[in-house]
Amino acid sequence: MATSPKKSPYSHRHLLGIEGLSVQEISYLLEKSDEYVGQNRRADKKNDTLHGRTIINLFFEDSTRTRTSFELAGKRLSADVINMSVGSSSVNKGETLIDTASTLNAMHPDVLVVRAGLSGAVQLLAEKVNCAVINAGDGSHEHPTQALLDALTIQRRRGKLQGLKIAICGDILHSRVARSNIYLLVTMGAQVRLVAPMTLLPSGAENWGVEVFHDMKAGLKNCDIVMMLRLQNERMQGNYFPSIREYFHFFGLDYEKLSVAKPDALIMHPGPANRGVEIDSEVADDYSRSVIREQVEMGVAVRMACLDILSHNLQREMQEAAK
Ligand code: ASP
Repeated sequence: MATSPKKSPYSHRHLLGIEGLSVQEISYLLEKSDEYVGQNRRADKKNDTLHGRTIINLFFEDSTRTRTSFELAGKRLSADVINMSVGSSSVNKGETLIDTASTLNAMHPDVLVVRAGLSGAVQLLAEKVNCAVINAGDGSHEHPTQALLDALTIQRRRGKLQGLKIAICGDILHSRVARSNIYLLVTMGAQVRLVAPMTLLPSGAENWGVEVFHDMKAGLKNCDIVMMLRLQNERMQGNYFPSIREYFHFFGLDYEKLSVAKPDALIMHPGPANRGVEIDSEVADDYSRSVIREQVEMGVAVRMACLDILSHNLQREMQEAAK
């Protein structure tokens, strides 16, 4: 293609996590994402930015919204998008994650979008391939595009991230969404509070530049944003709380607990939400406060921006190597 890619402020080959990214890099990713929101609201949602490029969505863990979002993002940029579901892949025949990745690598994809059950697996895979890799969630480690779409949602609603009081509530221990959000929001100057029972908080969390609370009303007081997390039952071994009923009583978001946050505080959830467990159904569906649908919309724009930036970085790298 005749594109002559300029060096962008985000110059990495991959997007494996938010940890370590600078304010400038995050701001650039958000700026580019914001540009795609308009395109997605038009009748004609397609441009040819990634015409001729191949994107493979390689998901070793279940996903509906993230996989669909990446697929749509790639198609809106005119890339060829292939979805590899675990069920039909050779992984079930004993082939390892790395073997699968190198087989796919031999087909010259431009971007591999990978979700894996093990923390660190996507990083490992990225070291074995020649293309760009986007982490679409690895174990309880990171989910960078989720944090970017959350930040874009907040920024578009509030005009900034800096100085906002943001409470991240629930199963922080098992949540890659929480980790990526904490890195991003702390870097961008938000005042982050973690609200969780002792058992669902990683040790050392108080050293992450956040405030820690074990009581919802104390943690939500005067908050601008209330971000709820799903209880990650699939990652739990043992008992972390006495019962779902008791968990909802103390940590489920209902109007009563929400009443101490700012009157216009926004409610967020990365989905899928366990209604009646970490969030009351009425609160989740209260679209005067809940921006859950907007988070999904922003997800497509963020993924378009990431695919666009990484594909062009790769092209630039290849051009430089050929000189
Ligand atoms: N969809 C998000 C993730 O993949 C959040 C969740 O599953 O609770 O991490």
